[in-house]
Amino acid sequence: MPATPAWPPRSAPRLFVEQTLSAGARIALGGPQAHYLARVMRVGEGDAVVLCDDATGEWAARVVEAGKRSVVLEAAERLRAREEVPDLWLVPALLKKDRFHMVLEKATELGAARIQPVVTRRCVADKLNADRARTLMTEAAEQCARTALPQLGEPVKLEALLRDWPAGRALFFADELGGAPAAAAFAAGPDKAAVLIGPEGGFDDAERAMIRAHPQARAVSLGPRILRGETAALAALSLWMGTRGDWSDGGTDSSGK
Ligand code: SAM
Repeated sequence: MPATPAWPPRSAPRLFVEQTLSAGARIALGGPQAHYLARVMRVGEGDAVVLCDDATGEWAARVVEAGKRSVVLEAAERLRAREEVPDLWLVPALLKKDRFHMVLEKATELGAARIQPVVTRRCVADKLNADRARTLMTEAAEQCARTALPQLGEPVKLEALLRDWPAGRALFFADELGGAPAAAAFAAGPDKAAVLIGPEGGFDDAERAMIRAHPQARAVSLGPRILRGETAALAALSLWMGTRGDWSDGGTDSSGK
């Protein structure tokens, strides 16, 4: 007796939708999402699509209408609740566009709860296209089977970031001039944390002094080599996830088991 194939199949496309999902809810998609389902994934009536709403969790849905410009789905069964993301913020200085886009994508995959861009004196960029950034993060979340989207903050100047830093959140300052070994500092730190990463040219002396003077700041080292900003961001995120985050509990596979 052949085994009944799993439903939805692992190959089912995954999408985040604006609408809050519930059993039997109908979701009409147009624009790029309809194009992706109809033209790229070539879904037809009855096919499965996995939907997330960044609120109730992940749902298996069935295609009920598949047109060239619109696809209508019906949510059938909730597969997983919205995940509890470890409470780590990434605070990267704005980098050249492509490098920063890579940071947004990878930080989403690695599990950052919030990405808070910061503008420092040596930043080569001082603006971020928020719509483009959110699209990149949503696509990365769909790709890595996240059920919770990271928050994206508006770029903020370093002085304002430090002035308004929330009580109770550790601010780990990645400093290529030296600090406590990051893994040990992360392991000994609180559950609510953030990692601050400098731009291509690093922080200037006045900024470094201002950060080090902040009561919640702790300088950490990511080793003896000078890493690019994007490398430092991903290295710090991975270290924290491995020591304090949800990598240390062996995680769950995308079917929730
Ligand atoms: N100012 C440096 C230079 O040009 O010599 C480079 C800065 S580095 C490209 C960008 C940022 O990555 C730094 O501001 C720091 O936050 C982080 N970083 C790079 N290497 C690091 C290390 N070994 N330890 C801690 N942070 C590091």
